[in-house]
Amino acid sequence: MKVLKFGGTSMADAHSVSHVFDIIKKSAENRFIVVSAPGKSLKYTQKVTDSFSECCALAREGRDFSAKFKEIADRFLNIGKELGVKINLSSELKIIEHKLSRGADYDYVISRGEYLTAKILAALLKFEFIDAAEFIRFDTYGKLNLPLTAAVADKRLKTSRGAVIPGFYGVMPSGAIKTFSRGGSDITGAIVAYAVKAGVYENWTDVDGFYRCDPKIVPDCGIVEVITYDELRELSYMGAGVLHPEAVYPTMLGDIPIHLRNTFNPDAKGTMIVSSLFEADRINADTITGIAGKSGFLGVLIEKTMMNSEIGFVCGVLKIFEKYGVSIEHLPTGIDSLTVVIDKKNIESESLGHIILEITAVFSPDNIRIIDDLSLIAIAGQNMRGGQDSLYRICKGLSKENINIRFINKTTNDLSVIVGVEELQCERAIKAIYSEFYPDS
Ligand code: ASP
Repeated sequence: MKVLKFGGTSMADAHSVSHVFDIIKKSAENRFIVVSAPGKSLKYTQKVTDSFSECCALAREGRDFSAKFKEIADRFLNIGKELGVKINLSSELKIIEHKLSRGADYDYVISRGEYLTAKILAALLKFEFIDAAEFIRFDTYGKLNLPLTAAVADKRLKTSRGAVIPGFYGVMPSGAIKTFSRGGSDITGAIVAYAVKAGVYENWTDVDGFYRCDPKIVPDCGIVEVITYDELRELSYMGAGVLHPEAVYPTMLGDIPIHLRNTFNPDAKGTMIVSSLFEADRINADTITGIAGKSGFLGVLIEKTMMNSEIGFVCGVLKIFEKYGVSIEHLPTGIDSLTVVIDKKNIESESLGHIILEITAVFSPDNIRIIDDLSLIAIAGQNMRGGQDSLYRICKGLSKENINIRFINKTTNDLSVIVGVEELQCERAIKAIYSEFYPDS
């Protein structure tokens, strides 16, 4: 049995919803469907979730939200009419409008896109509509309570022969609606897959799968056919993403493969995300699985002769960063030097100044300075394990392009290599590494 989740572009208008209908009707295995709210399309320049968010802001400021609300209402009424579904959308819309005028909670309002979309698709498929609010439970701190959710979901879903469930939200212990972070319908799909012990979780979007690297940088880069959860996490951390990062946990826990597929090209193979590769598949797989780069880092370089023999030096430096609540991304070290790499968006320049002053006062380094504008590039792949030449090929590619490696780090589990380069050289570096491993594409 399968769980299928369709993203915003798949639900954007009646035409794309009819593709979704065809995909679902192809197999009786397709029993649980999770949907996002309508996203952008050629005709609509705004996601319904953003339109609801605007309505909510207007209502809160005591301003007239009727024109914005009418835009949303018309969009849903059109989808319903074009698909010929017989449900009373107008009365659903009236309830939401009324609640909005009474100062409804933000999370309730922005979750209504998923709610209405699921109602429409359920009617079209003649499936049951099951509200996510019936089983997705958060705790009092707003954290998902997965064990409770799975237990309630199992009871509620197991008797259903076919159900459409709105993504993106659940309920607090108080009964109030609470949403996940943006893109959170992916998490709902993963939770449902875990709860019903699905054979596979199909995540349908508008791309053919997980790209080997950013297609804006290498337009012809291919699609990864199989990737492990670990590799995906390495690459997603560097910004490569088609899935919400929190969607991986429930599926990983249930050992359920995720199949990324394209609603507008259902014959494409897509990408399978699995817990581990069979040995035979591993041998046949490419040396690396993917490359992803992210800019906006800085390094604090600290140099001090005999640093290595000063017990507690590194720990003391890190404690100062901890004191200012700054999380550390990487820590390349030498005998007499240490660089603390941090994401610029996690630090204000004032705190950075304080940190440098404090390190200087406590440790009297010979030299301390900022290396600004760093990019990090992750190269991930199960097959680097035991492969002697992957580091050599990465360095060769970069050297051919005359790219200066600021630092390089190979994880001890041999799953990934992180290279630090100057921000201005990041795209060129990704291209260079890509063409070293995929010379023919
Ligand atoms: N509609 C929500 C968003 O735009 C949630 C989702 O699509 O997953 O973020």
